[in-house]
Amino acid sequence: MNMTPPAPSAQDFLTLRHDWSTDEVLALWEMPFADLMALAHAVHVALWPANAVQQCTLLSIKTGGCPEDCRYCSQSARYDTGLERQTLLSLDDVLAGAREARDQGATRYCMGAAWRNPKGRQFEQVLDMVRGVKALGMETCVTLGMLDDAQTEALREAGLDYYNHNIDTSAAFYGEVITTRSFDDRLQTLERVREAGIHVCSGGILGLGESRLDRVEMFRTLANLAEHPSSVPVNLLVRIPGTPMGNLPPLEPLELPRAIAVARLTMPRSWVRLSAGREAMSDELQAWCYFAGANSIFFGPRLLTTDNPEAHRDAALLARLGMRTMAPDEGLPAADRSAD
Ligand code: SF4
Repeated sequence: MNMTPPAPSAQDFLTLRHDWSTDEVLALWEMPFADLMALAHAVHVALWPANAVQQCTLLSIKTGGCPEDCRYCSQSARYDTGLERQTLLSLDDVLAGAREARDQGATRYCMGAAWRNPKGRQFEQVLDMVRGVKALGMETCVTLGMLDDAQTEALREAGLDYYNHNIDTSAAFYGEVITTRSFDDRLQTLERVREAGIHVCSGGILGLGESRLDRVEMFRTLANLAEHPSSVPVNLLVRIPGTPMGNLPPLEPLELPRAIAVARLTMPRSWVRLSAGREAMSDELQAWCYFAGANSIFFGPRLLTTDNPEAHRDAALLARLGMRTMAPDEGLPAADRSAD
């Protein structure tokens, strides 16, 4: 007798797992599109506030001149992209930006520095920034590159909530994207951060020329970490002229909601953040991503200037979709996020 296995139900995905096989994740990715969307949406609304999205703000606190060679990045010192370098911002500038972001509804303030790893006096300045933003009542996140044990501990003592460190892609494809550090370096920093009790924010980028299997392996790696990242940013490559990846062909658009759905199904209690590349996405594609389980976004990159068309577009789209932004104390999954 030919027994067809039962179709997966939302209930099957509510318990956290860390033992995903490649075949299992690939099978989810390759479900009929409508079935995958419906399944991921059911899991999403079972655990998270429906029709609501977290708004985060990202500030570059030190821009350009990075010694790493990430082939997608305008901030690498190796590529001529015309990017204007900026030394580390002052504490006053960072706190002014944080206050403005908070007043516009942001609940988390993410500060990024283009470093291989933080050093000396500059690291002390970042600790002051973390303390200052925390005192404003916002969640704090930094991305500073690789950390050692002492730096990780110092960040924890300063009150850091999240550390962002993306794995970018699969282990197999990593060498096509970055050669100045290894995939294992990345995983070691993530483990250090987790062991210090800081929430991990880690995701990757789609559209780097990777295969679908690489995408599957990237999400499988994240889902099989000892703890799921608290936040999973899903980025679409921004093809920047002057970088080695500036001329890559665009990603097939429906890979993006499929990726969001797979993140939601394999890491059901993690924030899934639709991150870089949104300005090139249609409203309809973003709507599918929200439906599939994306529940966090960054404001547009020009939030802190007077003219911010991206933020206006976000607000208009959320209104058209009947969605709202989450309050600072809202959004924890209905069940304990750490429950296994
Ligand atoms: S480490 Fe970060 S800032 Fe430096 S090149 Fe890579 S992505 Fe860009």
